[in-house]
This record gives sequence, C-alpha cells and structure tokens, in this order.
Amino acid sequence: MKVDEGVELSRYTTLGTGGPARAFARPENADEVAELLQWAAARDLAVAVVGLGSNLLAADAGVGALVLKLGGELARVEVDGDVIRAGAGAANAVCLHRARDAGLGGFEFACAIPGTIGGGIWMNAGAYGSDFSGVLERALVATADGSGWLAPAELGLSYRHSELKHGEVVLEAEFRLLPRPSEEIRADVRELNARRKEAQPTSKRTFGSVFKNPDHELSAGRMLDACGLRGFTIGGACISPKHANFIENSGGATTADAVALMGEARRRAHEEFGVVLEHEVEFFGDLDLPDL
Ligand SMILES: Cc1cc2nc3c(=O)[nH]c(=O)nc-3n(C[C@H](O)[C@H](O)[C@H](O)COP(=O)(O)OP(=O)(O)OC[C@H]3O[C@@H](n4cnc5c(N)ncnc54)[C@H](O)[C@@H]3O)c2cc1C
Repeated sequence: MKVDEGVELSRYTTLGTGGPARAFARPENADEVAELLQWAAARDLAVAVVGLGSNLLAADAGVGALVLKLGGELARVEVDGDVIRAGAGAANAVCLHRARDAGLGGFEFACAIPGTIGGGIWMNAGAYGSDFSGVLERALVATADGSGWLAPAELGLSYRHSELKHGEVVLEAEFRLLPRPSEEIRADVRELNARRKEAQPTSKRTFGSVFKNPDHELSAGRMLDACGLRGFTIGGACISPKHANFIENSGGATTADAVALMGEARRRAHEEFGVVLEHEVEFFGDLDLPDL
C-alpha cells in the first residue's frame, strides 16, 4: 500500500488550511486499512481519517500522524430493502440520493451537511432536529487489533459527539430508513436547502458551525452576533457577515488565523454572557484555544 509523505492537508479541508501530514494514504478496502493500521502501529504513529474535511482545522505546522482518505469500496453505497449500506468514505449527498431513488426517507436531514458517512458518525452530525444516531443501525469499526460492528449505543453518540478515538476507523455503516415517496423527499430537500442558503454562507470556504450551541437561551451564533462579531477579521479569516457561528476563509487564511478568531470570539462570549463556548470543529495536530 503506497504511503506518501508531506501531503498538504489544505487540499483536504473545506476551509483550505492546514500543513503537511507526516504520512498519507488512500486505502480502498478493509484489507488495505488493516495493513495501514499495522504499518502505523509498528512505527508508533498515530492514525487519523480525513473525510470531506468539512469539520476540520489542521495545524499549519502539519500533523504528526498517518492520515487516511477512504475511497474505492469504502465509498460505495448500496440499497438492500429498507437498509442503506454505505462505505464510510461515501458523501452524505450520494447516500441521500440513493435513498431517495429507492423511495426511502429519514436521511433528508443530511442534505446540507457536506461530509462523509465516517465524519457524520464521528460527529453524530445532525440538522433540523435529526442526527446520525436516529437512523444508524450499526457501524463497522477497525483498529490495529481487528474490526467489529458497533451499535449506536456502543459508539456513544450524543449531541455532535461520539466516543470514537483517533486510530479507530469507521469502514462502513448501515442505516435503516422508512418508505417515503421520492417526490416528497425531493420537495423536503429543496425546502431545507433554500432555508440553509438564506441563513448560512453556503458559497464560502468554511468548516460549518464553529462552536456547539451552549446550554443557554441564545444559540452560539446569536451570542456571537450580540457581541458584535459579524465581519470581525484576523488575517485571512473572518467571522461570517451572514452567520456569526461560521468562519470564512476570505483569502489566504491560515489555521492560526481561524484559531485566533475563535479565541477572541470565545473570550467575548465569556465576558458578555459568562458562557464557555465549546468548539464543534475538530482539531488535527498541535492546536489549542487560548485560556479564558
Ligand atoms: C457549509 C457547512 C455546513 C455544515 N452544516 C452542518 C450541519 O448542519 N450539521 C452538522 O452536524 N455539521 C455540519 N457541518 C460540519 C460537517 O459537515 C459535519 O460535521 C460532517 O459530518 C463532517 O464530515 P467530514 O466527512 O467532512 O469529516 P471531517 O471534517 O473530514 O472529519 C471530522 C472528524 O471525523 C473523523 N472521521 C472522518 N471520517 C472518519 C472515519 N471513516 N473513521 C473515523 N473517523 C473519521 C475525522 O478524523 C475528524 O475527527 C457543516 C459544514 C459546512 C462546511
């Protein structure tokens, strides 16, 4: 299995930032993943997977890990009765389209989540009151010691969180959906996408929601808005003028710019509302927010 060195992760994140991975490979089936996990274990090298990079900030200095990008068989989607079987590297959009064409509903919530099945399970991604935990039947997870199927409870799925750890690679997942006319699904998706376009910077380079919604009457976005942060810029990164819980790459942004912006937003929210915002975006490499 070919392993490359120095692949720039900026090519694999939707924000377009991030330095080189120590090692990078593109496995296409479970055997290749097993071989790569052994390869990394023999070198005591951490392993992390990049999906669509739509919820990722990778350190500018690079990431000292073997980074995997799943493809081939690991990105296939099949329909079997009311079950959708998807490789973890498959895009949510492909899954949704296959389900719609088969007259199966339940995955519509993912229409505007621009990630892969593996990233969706890792994050328990969700929108409009639904998330992966609501449709996931089981997921096949590999480690250097072998692989096995895990139920949602064993994956520990909760709000934008799973108990998966780096080094555990989701290979495949099965979703149980419900019969629904394709036309209804199409109409719902059209409406959800229009709502999304209205409220969020969908045509800009972002990584989705920056912070999780806190346990507070205001969402993270409304809180940052009330702090007057829309349009606030550091380097090439700016708080979206359209939605304050998004950071846009307004040209030449680095991960350091985005992290500095997050630190300032978090400081202001703490000062104004006494709330400690928790980041939703995943950090790859040596990254941390400044102390409050
Ligand atoms: C415009 C925009 C809108 C968004 N809207 C939403 C939304 O409404 N709701 C929402 O929840 N999210 C949203 N997001 C965030 C993001 O799309 C989701 O979190 C998505 O599920 C991430 O999937 P990904 O494949 O891009 O994962 P990545 O960002 O590539 O990775 C995220 C994490 O998952 C891990 N991972 C990925 N694949 C695997 C695998 N096969 N095995 C093990 N670990 C894996 C990575 O290591 C990383 O820790 C949005 C993002 C953007 C840019």
